[in-house]
Amino acid sequence: MIFLKNAEEIELLRESNLLVGKTLGEMAKHIRPGISTLELDRIAEEFIRDHGAVPGFLGYGGFPNTLCISVNDAVVHGIPAADCFLKEGDVVSIDCGTLMNGYYGDSAYTFEVGEVKEEVRKLLRVTKEALYKGIEKAVAGLRIGDIGYAVQSYCEENGYSVVRELVGHGVGRDMHEEPQVPNYGRRGQGVKLAEGMVIAIEPMINLGKRYVFQDSDGWTVRTRDGMPSAHFEHTVAVGKHGADILSSFEFVEKELSRL
Ligand code: MG
Ligand code: MG
Repeated sequence: MIFLKNAEEIELLRESNLLVGKTLGEMAKHIRPGISTLELDRIAEEFIRDHGAVPGFLGYGGFPNTLCISVNDAVVHGIPAADCFLKEGDVVSIDCGTLMNGYYGDSAYTFEVGEVKEEVRKLLRVTKEALYKGIEKAVAGLRIGDIGYAVQSYCEENGYSVVRELVGHGVGRDMHEEPQVPNYGRRGQGVKLAEGMVIAIEPMINLGKRYVFQDSDGWTVRTRDGMPSAHFEHTVAVGKHGADILSSFEFVEKELSRL
């Protein structure tokens, strides 16, 4: 069942998602070679609680932390660890969730650590652009397949591959609501988009082949070929004439522009 949100609920979702954006902005301040992923997690948890929310992922399905931190060949769902230190040249996806006033926020950004190889930087750039190509299709009257097609075709034109096993989702009083929002698909196929649908669009795009496996830690999803992967996510409200992006990269990009 798909829960449509009214204007008031969309504002509550915006508040929760805005806090995710601010938390990602905090991460941009702290990401550097030598910091552990558990330290980033600690900073994020404190920041979220200081702003009157609770971490959305902590305990969700048994997940042990506030952030999913996925480095290099880790696609998503990486577990922060005290002995996992970022190093020069890494790329790190930080996926953050919040629960505020009963509504979830969910957004992710992939960061560069120091100097990153040009081919990997391009993967990040194209994946972020693909997210916005998908968002352009989050319009009432179009279909879920239009979003997936837009993401997939853009990434594949650039020589990358789209992870199939994990998909975007509805967001509301639950973090993962219907419908599923795949990053692949056919134009004109799937659930029809309606005003008031709130969905997370989250391309997970690999530099090499699309195949992934689950690490023995029970959470981390990694590329089979060991090549890097990128992940960008926004939560958006479907509108009559276009999408309303409820999460924000503004805080991240303000920090990054200072570097
Ligand atoms: Mg997420
Ligand atoms: Mg999500």
